[in-house]
Amino acid sequence: MISQLPEVPSLAAMKTKYKDNHWGTSVKRLPWDSKTNKTPLEELISFTMDERYNAKHRSQIPEEISLINSIVPLRCHYCGSKEFIKYGKYKTGINRFQCKTCKRTFNNLTNTIFDSHKIPISEWFDYLIHLFEFHSIKSSARDNKNASSTGKYWLLKVFEILKNYQDDIVLDGTIVFDETFFTVVESKRTYKDGNKLRGISRDKICIAVAYDGFRTIILSENVSKPSSKSTLNTLKGHIKPGSKLIHDDEHSHQVLVKELDLTEEFCKSSYQEFLSEEENPLTPINKIHSYMKKFMRNHEGFSRDDIQDWMNLISFIINEPENRYDKLKLFLKMAISTPKKVRFRDVMSKKVDTKPFSTNPVQIRNFFLKNI
Ligand SMILES: [Zn+2]
Repeated sequence: MISQLPEVPSLAAMKTKYKDNHWGTSVKRLPWDSKTNKTPLEELISFTMDERYNAKHRSQIPEEISLINSIVPLRCHYCGSKEFIKYGKYKTGINRFQCKTCKRTFNNLTNTIFDSHKIPISEWFDYLIHLFEFHSIKSSARDNKNASSTGKYWLLKVFEILKNYQDDIVLDGTIVFDETFFTVVESKRTYKDGNKLRGISRDKICIAVAYDGFRTIILSENVSKPSSKSTLNTLKGHIKPGSKLIHDDEHSHQVLVKELDLTEEFCKSSYQEFLSEEENPLTPINKIHSYMKKFMRNHEGFSRDDIQDWMNLISFIINEPENRYDKLKLFLKMAISTPKKVRFRDVMSKKVDTKPFSTNPVQIRNFFLKNI
């Protein structure tokens, strides 16, 4: 029988006591590290911890360095000048370049979203594959053992890369088109100079979705109810004049038919109810709508400010290439070829660096699609 319980130290006392030994030090350090003859149990624990640590914190592998070196930079990653020369290698084996204009040295990762000394690109692989396959930020973060704020931060980096992704997509041939609506949380931006912007509903936002059997565009009309004006502004650059439009005969769609000289086939919403999936000409777009809803249900609440970013991501997922590894490869190449550094502090305060020069991700994507 214990006559007196040992005194339990306070948490603060424990923190002070173990300050230099355990608290805040690397998990890699174990008490028996310096021992020459470790017990089998100690050996096993050391081995397991080492393996875990190395898997999470390993340095760049040769394949990753080859990938980085396989890409020829288009411009100086600092000033955008095309005048630069190969300038040896870093000790990691990564090619170094020197700009003749600003004299600075850079490599393919400089100023890109991967410009971090701590995280190898391969850490991104799992995250991106999960993201491209419906997972929520929360579950991606859990799977990757990252804090969920890291997941969110990485998502914002992904958004930056896909910012102009849909800019150059022009649909042609037979195009199916319809709007869908999302409920959004009201953002601070609906207030300008202290006044609420008129014409924007509190909770609904209209998204135009069009598909030509090959490519899909998903664009926010930034209104709660589509009008001729919002429809034309959103879609006029994305539909080739003379194409055929399949739609539900909403009044606001007529402007496209007229302005872009389109032929049309329509099927009113009230009539669609009586048609089977096979009979309904709007089935392809309905399927995209339901995919979008499902995708967004899997993610956290989103604000009006982010909606187009989410739509760019969904568009990137739906569009070619279909194979997830090809998609991953395409994304990585787009990201590496788009020097733009996104800092944690800046994205959280929505002050993302402007690009030092313009590199159009769509042109890069088209180039790489041909060369994959
Ligand atoms: Zn330069």
